[in-house]
Amino acid sequence: MNRRTIHSLGLKLRVTRLIAKGLVSRDHPVLVHMIPTRRCNLSCRYCNEYDSTSPPVPVKELLRRVDLLAKLGTSIITQSGGEPLLHPNLEEVIARVRGHGIVAGLITNGYLLTAKRIKQLNKAGLDHLQMSIDNVMPDDISKKSLKVLNKKLELLAEYAEFQVNVNSVLGAGIANPEDAAVVARRAVELGFMGTVGVIHDGFGQLRALNATQRKVFDEISSLATHSFGRINRLNPYQRNLVEGKPNDWWVCRAGARYLYLCEDGLVHYCSQQRGAPGIPLENYTVENIRREYRTRKTCAPYCTISCVHQVSIMDRWRDPQPLLYDPAALSGAADPPLIRIQS
Ligand code: SF4
Ligand code: SF4
Repeated sequence: MNRRTIHSLGLKLRVTRLIAKGLVSRDHPVLVHMIPTRRCNLSCRYCNEYDSTSPPVPVKELLRRVDLLAKLGTSIITQSGGEPLLHPNLEEVIARVRGHGIVAGLITNGYLLTAKRIKQLNKAGLDHLQMSIDNVMPDDISKKSLKVLNKKLELLAEYAEFQVNVNSVLGAGIANPEDAAVVARRAVELGFMGTVGVIHDGFGQLRALNATQRKVFDEISSLATHSFGRINRLNPYQRNLVEGKPNDWWVCRAGARYLYLCEDGLVHYCSQQRGAPGIPLENYTVENIRREYRTRKTCAPYCTISCVHQVSIMDRWRDPQPLLYDPAALSGAADPPLIRIQS
């Protein structure tokens, strides 16, 4: 049995445990996205989550944040950005995550991956890496192309001991929807997971897909063979959005089951709703989690943030959500504001 297989079996066991823990209790975050640096080495036109100047957050502070998240009972911590590989001590942070028994993830544009860096990530104990590839050839909108990143995928296939998920995207600004299927097929060919996401606007909201885009979504979903890929295929929220339908929920579990921890150490609902609630992590308690678990968000019916969909599925059986208002009334709003209503 090689190291990748051994790691994969261990990860399956830990994921099973975290699902069981999430089913027993709703008082802890399942997934936290943490920002070790806001800076990015790219500038994708559709992105509002980066700058080109921010320094890395000092490693001591990042380790303190990981310890606080462990105290809250967090199950998965994923490093995101900006581009997290720009952080010089990223591996130390990942090792601290694993030291707490927490599943460690990383979302990267892949540009800085080398054989040496992949081996360092192996050593740190990284569990899961996600790389988004937007097109086959780079264009004005995005340089995250298969042409540039295929070499990085080959390096990952050769050296990575962690799981790799290649995410392709559909939606506004992506010139050729068929590119997403080419990317997904290449991912599966190399033995990786292939998922597809729907690009959102600056408020995390849906822009309807056309018939070609919907066809490509179905094709990629049928390629997904792995458990994470199956989540993509079975995600009922994503399915409705692809068909242009709102989802029948008013409480996403952001702020409770999912936290977005920005570079300043503040907890937000998600990358698209920064500022709410905007509470320093050291002041975030189980009372905040319980309150946000029940807070209604008007952005929920057309929200495309798939990681929040995925963690929210965990609680659908225990707290089903009837539709309390007509989502058609929201669909005309160009910039739907976030409205927090305590239930
Ligand atoms: S690589 Fe990621 S963080 Fe950087 S600009 Fe593109 S989408 Fe934004
Ligand atoms: S529904 Fe939740 S995850 Fe989606 S944009 Fe609103 S606060 Fe963020």
